[in-house]
Amino acid sequence: MKKDCIFCKIANGEISSATLYEDDEFRVILDMGPASRGHALILPKEHYSDLCQLDEAVAARVLPLAKKLGTAMTKALNCDGFNLVQNNGEAAGQTVLHFHMHIIPRYAGGPKIVAWEPGKTSDEERAQIVEAVRAEL
Ligand code: 5GP
Ligand code: ZN
Repeated sequence: MKKDCIFCKIANGEISSATLYEDDEFRVILDMGPASRGHALILPKEHYSDLCQLDEAVAARVLPLAKKLGTAMTKALNCDGFNLVQNNGEAAGQTVLHFHMHIIPRYAGGPKIVAWEPGKTSDEERAQIVEAVRAEL
């Protein structure tokens, strides 16, 4: 646990939360500022600041957990879909620096929550990006 990390305290039960699911490694809670009805957060109990720091064995459990919760929430809340959102870095909108994945239920006819205007690119730019990223893998 990291001192002064709010999600460490919530995940480990030091601060109470509306908990949808808990096991040895994770707690899934309702977001206190929900983007939609049922907006939930998957929190590992160990502290990792973001995806790049996340232990691979823990990472391997996140998507199955999102599947389990998303499936249950679809039935329980009658949502018509859901988004998985996972922000890394302040520039990406991460406000709590303890890895978490959002599960955001979506309701037909509801507001746009995760959307962007398609931009423009070129063959040259894509080739530069591919070369740069592949060099770091
Ligand atoms: P981020 O922007 O870092 O991806 O998302 C942080 C999320 O955590 C936000 O949606 C925010 O509403 C939620 N949040 C921040 N503090 C608390 C808290 O103390 N309790 C709960 N349940 N959610 C929180
Ligand atoms: Zn933490």
